[in-house]
Amino acid sequence: MLMIPGPTPVPEQVLLAMAKHPIGHRSGDFSKIMEEVTNNLKWLHQTQNDVLILTASGTGAMEAGIINFLSAGDRVLVGDNGKFGERWALVAKAYGLQVDVISAEWGKPLDPEEFRAKLEADTEKAIKAVIITHSETSTGVLNDLETINKYVKAHGEALIIVDTVTSLGASNVPVDEWGLDVVASGSQKGYMIPPGLGFVAVSPKAWKAYETATLPKFYLDLGKYKKDAAKNSNPFTPPVNLFYALQAALNMMKAEGLENIFARHQRLTQATRAAVKAMGLPLFAPDDAASPAITAVIPDRVDAEQVRSVMKKRYDVLLAGGQDHLKGKIFRIGHLGFVCDRDILSAIGALEGTLQELGYEGAVPGAGVAAAAKVFANS
Ligand SMILES: *Cc1c(COP(=O)(O)O)cnc(C)c1O
Repeated sequence: MLMIPGPTPVPEQVLLAMAKHPIGHRSGDFSKIMEEVTNNLKWLHQTQNDVLILTASGTGAMEAGIINFLSAGDRVLVGDNGKFGERWALVAKAYGLQVDVISAEWGKPLDPEEFRAKLEADTEKAIKAVIITHSETSTGVLNDLETINKYVKAHGEALIIVDTVTSLGASNVPVDEWGLDVVASGSQKGYMIPPGLGFVAVSPKAWKAYETATLPKFYLDLGKYKKDAAKNSNPFTPPVNLFYALQAALNMMKAEGLENIFARHQRLTQATRAAVKAMGLPLFAPDDAASPAITAVIPDRVDAEQVRSVMKKRYDVLLAGGQDHLKGKIFRIGHLGFVCDRDILSAIGALEGTLQELGYEGAVPGAGVAAAAKVFANS
């Protein structure tokens, strides 16, 4: 049972959709799939902008989001409050951008005021992009993209480039309403399909920047993907079977509806957090900045890696560990994508069993499941 923030569980009908012989990617049949999934991706992103599909993991989509719209030496503001914010800064530096990092302690959200101050001070309009992670998967923190983006809009010049890998398909990311310029995501997270596809939504303003951007690019040159997408085609051989999966998964999402998808993730998050609190374990992220995809827990009186080990061996539930300096200090419960109320009750029940086995005495047995069930009963 995958309770990690990616790869996430894949529904049986999506797995079955993939279990077919590939078809030619220049065929009319494939073009029909390409047209359908492109339209449905726009629906998911709540946008009229282009949404392009890459054969890449989420990091490939992030890299494409930088190299297509910027030039060496460009000044960018990067938000870093975890592993993925840090990755943005590393990609930007690898391409010779002038990176100004706004950081927050891991486990805390980025402070929008710091972005406001730097953007307001930039009267020369030297800042070409503000680059942030919406849901910081390494810590379970949801950054306030909406507010930070308002300051980017007030600046007028800078693009907003955002990693929505664990927020898209889990919480509201209205690309057009907010005016998000470049939005990167990946298939093995909220999309409910296996790893292998990256997605980048691109605004008209970003395409304007593309025209003058000089960073080197070839495979990830989004202009090629846009041109071919207009003919329902791809510049390079796409992973045809993953497109079958994408087609099936997007149809499932449409049947559920965006509001229901967001409400379900909200419910799963609230139930998980209530359960963890009832077990007497501290949560790593504050209530008002909780990721819809992942809940990080500080098992202060037991070892996080031991918790994960018992969860896996005895209960067959895979949790994620802490990354870098958080290894052994936190564990993370993924509740992203194809996850239902029952999955949370199972995982929380298994966690209570695990804590008993490890001799943890901080909680009344059953308190976690009871707290989660109460959230479900009231929502
Ligand atoms: C998973 C993830 C990525 C992408 O990682 P890949 O391993 O390249 O797919 C990027 N950002 C966030 C926030 C993620 O959770």
